[in-house]
Amino acid sequence: MPALQSVDDDISQVFRMEHNKEILTEFGKRIQRCYGCFIAYHLKDMYLGEDVTFFCEHCKDENMFHFDQFAQLLDISKLKEVAEEDHHH
Ligand SMILES: [Zn+2]
Repeated sequence: MPALQSVDDDISQVFRMEHNKEILTEFGKRIQRCYGCFIAYHLKDMYLGEDVTFFCEHCKDENMFHFDQFAQLLDISKLKEVAEEDHHH
């Protein structure tokens, strides 16, 4: 039944998106030190450099993505891994 299958896919996709949004919101509230100036910022105000390094708006360069951008580019499961890793500290 192709029609039913497609409805199921739509629903699970919406659930995934909502779930991802929650993860991103939580992730954005995390405090992260800038790798350039070592001042702590909320992740949602930061920029992602290479090797998952985070920089503030003063230290970023034009190759880096703002949180809002890289949140959409990054694999959410990886974000979650990073977020969960931090709980061990
Ligand atoms: Zn900085």
